[in-house]
Amino acid sequence: MRRAEAAARAKQRRRARRRRTFLVGAVVVVVVVALVVAVPALLGRDHGSAPEAGSSVPAASQPSATPTTAPEPTARDLATATITTAWTDRWRGSAGFLGTASGPASCTGSEDDPTRCTRKYAGGTLVWRPAKDATTPGQGGTVSVAQTDDPSTDLVIVNKKRPLDPKTFAPKTLVEVAGPAEVMRPEAASALRAMFKAASKAGLPLLVHSAYRAHDVQASTYEGWVAAHGKEQADNESARPGYSEHQTGLAVDVLDASGSCGAMSCFGSTKQAAWVAKNGWRYGFVVRYPKGEEKTTGYMYEPWHVRYVGKKVAADVRATGAKTLEDFFGLPAARTY
Ligand SMILES: [Zn+2]
Repeated sequence: MRRAEAAARAKQRRRARRRRTFLVGAVVVVVVVALVVAVPALLGRDHGSAPEAGSSVPAASQPSATPTTAPEPTARDLATATITTAWTDRWRGSAGFLGTASGPASCTGSEDDPTRCTRKYAGGTLVWRPAKDATTPGQGGTVSVAQTDDPSTDLVIVNKKRPLDPKTFAPKTLVEVAGPAEVMRPEAASALRAMFKAASKAGLPLLVHSAYRAHDVQASTYEGWVAAHGKEQADNESARPGYSEHQTGLAVDVLDASGSCGAMSCFGSTKQAAWVAKNGWRYGFVVRYPKGEEKTTGYMYEPWHVRYVGKKVAADVRATGAKTLEDFFGLPAARTY
């Protein structure tokens, strides 16, 4: 009888042990399943279909993700991805002047119809308007560098289609580059000094012919051209006030200081002009109105007119083979007003 009781108790203990083992096992399985389901959902939330970390859309705008099926990219996802492709094509990715992103992309408008997206980089801010019917990243839309609209930056682009905003813009700080009459913005002035020094060292001295021109000065210069040659000719040779690169404080007309050619008319055939065209980029300058680009720039060839854009952009313009700043920044041609 005792043996039978002992055997029954032992059986009960075994059953209890099995039940405990089963319960522990079940808890482990539940926890594992919960982790498998929850962790990718949490981690995956900020990735979506965006191509780069940081360019993702806000978590709240993602459809609730399941671990097995990837969510369909929304119009906003595509818009966010669009920039990566367009930017890589045009500005050579992080190797270009923009450098690395300093924050995520953000878009205005609705989820289905994002109207404007921006993203900040070390070297500037990109603004793009995605194509409404885009179904793949990089399809359609427009992209530009925000600084090209801002006259207070080194990247402002002024031409016959793009007046300064405001038209009466004047730089905050101007410093002398050749006596008190010729001034430029500090960054452009120090770059010009470095370029002149190098040119002199190469035996090709340069001088400043005309640097910053205020709105009022440009107005009288232009009126002078109109009075002397008529409006059509004036528009080929001089900018209307508010449309001149000289008004930015970043442009300067340079001439040969050696004494063999002191005028614009002969500058193009000097060694100085060839040196400036070849080496200007090293100091952050580009020859703004090159030969054969009148249809884009709206100006005849001006070998003497150089524009400061900074060393990185000037190097990029050269590396990409862009002939004009309009081409480089993807802006429309501006042959006429
Ligand atoms: Zn000029």
